[in-house]
Amino acid sequence: MTQSTDSQNFEGQKIDQMLKDKMPALGIDLGGTKIGCAPVCDRKVIGEPKKVPTPKGADKIVDQLVELIEDARKDHILRGVGIATAGIVNTETGEVIGSTGNLPGWAGTPIKKIIESRTGLPVHVDNDANAAAYGEVRSLGLTEKTCVVAVTLGTGIGGGIIMKGQLYRGAHYAAGEIGHLRVNLNNHRLCTCGLFDCWEAYGAGRGFRATAKEMLTNVTVDQTPLAALLPDPPVDKVCAAALEGDIIAQRIVQTWHEHVCAGIVTLAHTLDPDCFIVSGGMSKFVNYELLKELVIDKCMPRVGERLDIHRSSLGDVAGIIGAAEIALDHLVIGC
Ligand SMILES: [Zn+2]
Repeated sequence: MTQSTDSQNFEGQKIDQMLKDKMPALGIDLGGTKIGCAPVCDRKVIGEPKKVPTPKGADKIVDQLVELIEDARKDHILRGVGIATAGIVNTETGEVIGSTGNLPGWAGTPIKKIIESRTGLPVHVDNDANAAAYGEVRSLGLTEKTCVVAVTLGTGIGGGIIMKGQLYRGAHYAAGEIGHLRVNLNNHRLCTCGLFDCWEAYGAGRGFRATAKEMLTNVTVDQTPLAALLPDPPVDKVCAAALEGDIIAQRIVQTWHEHVCAGIVTLAHTLDPDCFIVSGGMSKFVNYELLKELVIDKCMPRVGERLDIHRSSLGDVAGIIGAAEIALDHLVIGC
């Protein structure tokens, strides 16, 4: 390569970077129940994210995505679109290759190809937990850290692994499927994936409720008023009762923390990360001091002691920011 081509490339990269900083990409977070979206510039969302219910069926979802993009274009000149979706995503083709129970019929849809042809904009599609992890790392300026693991603790458990600012996707785009780490060998609880004893069958919201149900069975209303809430005791009621001193509720909450700890410890020993960032609907019920104590107790000394575990400060917008940032990066790098 000649010197002049080098400097032209350098100038080109500078212009790309400037455009990336000035022109937003639309970040879209496609979930099982709702779709959130917002234009993203300089690692921040512009305005309040828009939220609409997720329609049923792949064709209707695609129509809704196109409508959201066209709406955003009325107010912004978009440089591209980043879509975060549940399921294992082939990020080269922009297609969901692993099915997701929350979005029936979505697997196999060539999302990138369809949306690009209907909008004329460059589109990047990624897994939702990976996008959220990327959003967290970018927003918090953690791109120099050796390893950051973002854990989405919701109805299930998702994860994203970022090494030196880059997503680790694995050999088959399935890295970060941490909700399906095996945490028990007794074939005790069936997971939604069809396997037994996955981490999310214990540590996610569904797991919390299953634990509460087990521990409240054969308990009378005299022992705890929570017994009246069977067969499906709500997480917030159990956590509130624990804070008010209900001993059985406290045992349920302690057991759930031990279950959350089990997956963290396995990941800590595998990856030795700088920190875990916890997000998702269940993250507000975590006692981070207690979790840290449990993790230190179960980890080898060098791994656990300096490990940082904290709650996400971005919440819902992490996926939107991450999806848009990955899309912008692909435009700058040109791959
Ligand atoms: Zn599973």
